[in-house]
Amino acid sequence: MTGHSISRPITEAVRRYLVGPDQRWVFEPPPPDWTPPRIARTSLYLHVPFCRNVCPYCPYTKVPYEETLIDPYTRAARAEVDWWADRIGPTEITSVYIGGGTPTLAMDSVASVLERIRERFRLTGDINIETNPADVNPVIVQQLHDAGIACVSLGVQSFQTEKLALIGRRYEPVTAERALELLARSGFASVNADIMFALPGQSTHDVIADLTRAMRTGVNQITTYPLFTFPYTTVGEYLRLKAVRMPNLHTRRAHYRAISRWCAEHNFERVSVWGFKRGDVPRYSSVTRDSYIGIGPGAGSHLPDGFVLNSFDLNSWTRAALAGHTAIALRMPFAGEMAGWWWLYWRLYDTHIPLDDLDAALGQDAPKARRWLKTLEWTGLAVRHGKTLELTEPGAFWLHLAQNHFALNYVNTLWTQARRAPWPQAVNI
Ligand code: SF4
Repeated sequence: MTGHSISRPITEAVRRYLVGPDQRWVFEPPPPDWTPPRIARTSLYLHVPFCRNVCPYCPYTKVPYEETLIDPYTRAARAEVDWWADRIGPTEITSVYIGGGTPTLAMDSVASVLERIRERFRLTGDINIETNPADVNPVIVQQLHDAGIACVSLGVQSFQTEKLALIGRRYEPVTAERALELLARSGFASVNADIMFALPGQSTHDVIADLTRAMRTGVNQITTYPLFTFPYTTVGEYLRLKAVRMPNLHTRRAHYRAISRWCAEHNFERVSVWGFKRGDVPRYSSVTRDSYIGIGPGAGSHLPDGFVLNSFDLNSWTRAALAGHTAIALRMPFAGEMAGWWWLYWRLYDTHIPLDDLDAALGQDAPKARRWLKTLEWTGLAVRHGKTLELTEPGAFWLHLAQNHFALNYVNTLWTQARRAPWPQAVNI
């Protein structure tokens, strides 16, 4: 079976377990009178959809960078901040995550939207941002500091020229290395390097060499992740054209085991299935937040009563936001204890589950969740430390694999339909 063909049964089994066999997960256009609930505290995600070159494996909402696109985008993003603030209240924003795209291509825009966020909300948490090796220079570093950004993540992916070429990244390894060194010595609270594993033709030795080179630059967090081959990206076709064979499960397992061992030996503690950090620094994380609102085309929001998703189409999103209308294209209200199961999903991703919080999060489904977590303990996939259940290294790998298939199927179905039309009709998962 291919990775994609087993994603469907895994996702289906999880869905049936969580919401029962008769209920579907249905995203629909929100009713005309729908409005989000008041929210006391939440995180905020800002999507900046511009890239200098479009990588073939990338599933995210992005368009080629053009200077003329920046001004309308900025005005629309500020208007969307207002739309949310008018409805959810003067909410406390406990963290901001700025992703894309390549946000550092549009730093004036980012600064302007952050200014509006500070004006309309009570921003108390750290601001995190993604960037690209070719964009990092002293001017950008100064702009990041001026905007109050504390945590920076650099998408290195690999320090090997042929691997970068294979995945369509157009920079030299030394460019990524110098960018990391500059960020690491520039006074940010946290600097993360993204490194890919299980790339075609990559050996365990190659992965460890990449981790070692990243560590030597002085970064305090490393996030490792395998090449995702979302069916709707061109990467499948691209790799087939190049007659590339994807690594099998055995190789992926070997890479993950070696990464875990190397991180333990170098005092990088596991902070998520894929993330490892060293020292007492803020954790850089784009996910695992319990609740967030999303600004920008294709941005999602996790609200107390469900998920919503903005229009993926830049023009449609811009027009709606500038007109003061909702830019939300699809909404899925939570049924039963679904919100609690999402909470558990992200705690599993964290690899640490606070057992005392299960009752509050899962309500009547808490006993079911406890039985399931007990199974993880019996099978050696998790161990208990006081009131926390912690995934073991094999547990982190196998859970990561299940979550990978779940995400592939779930995200693929949703995003494929969401990008077919600016305002799609119902999406059934
Ligand atoms: S991987 Fe990053 S740089 Fe490449 S197209 Fe996607 S968002 Fe842009």
